[in-house]
Amino acid sequence: MDAGWRTDAARIEAAARALLGPAATPSAILLTHVHPDHSGSAGALAAAWGCPILIHPAEAPFAQGDFPAMQRDVGPLDRWVILPAMRAIGERRRAAILARDSLAGLTRELATDGTLPGMDGWTWLPTPGHTLGHVSFVRTTDRVVLTGDALVTLKVNTAAGILAGRNGLSGPPWYTTWDRRAAGDSIRAIAALEPAVVGPGHGRPIAGRDVAAALRAFAARARVGRA
Ligand SMILES: [Zn+2]
Repeated sequence: MDAGWRTDAARIEAAARALLGPAATPSAILLTHVHPDHSGSAGALAAAWGCPILIHPAEAPFAQGDFPAMQRDVGPLDRWVILPAMRAIGERRRAAILARDSLAGLTRELATDGTLPGMDGWTWLPTPGHTLGHVSFVRTTDRVVLTGDALVTLKVNTAAGILAGRNGLSGPPWYTTWDRRAAGDSIRAIAALEPAVVGPGHGRPIAGRDVAAALRAFAARARVGRA
């Protein structure tokens, strides 16, 4: 699940070999959302493993490098910095960059019934806000929730937190978040699952009896950008 930056492919392949054995290959790559720090190696790994990349359909414009469509639902950093720069560099250079990062032809939509291939007991949950098509992955039997950027355990929304790398529950970074109100609702949806384990996209996993209560308290006051 999730595939790091473009430079992380070899490290992820080595981890998969260590976990699954040298001959086994994953049957799919699951992405919580299409941002370069989560989907960067997905194309290389899908090619190496011969498997599809599963995404929510709302992430497709970003996966396919559909420049007109990808300008619709983005956070402040994209809206005010990245996309204006992409418009300014001209069509040829833009097309080259989009083609380099494109996952076109490699992605499939997540099944609408919530099932995940090769992952009995797991389901996916829409957790929009950070991006329009952001999803989390949930193992219901023991309440393990892989939250991507919908909920992280690093204080990414305060300067002191970022500089000191401070641990703690946080909503997604506000500057890369499409809709902060929806992001708050998604944190509440995750809290309602009463997770025993949270595996976030940034920060360390947290586990134990206190997690559900801490998350409930955090969700009650969660406003992305303030928390
Ligand atoms: Zn992200």
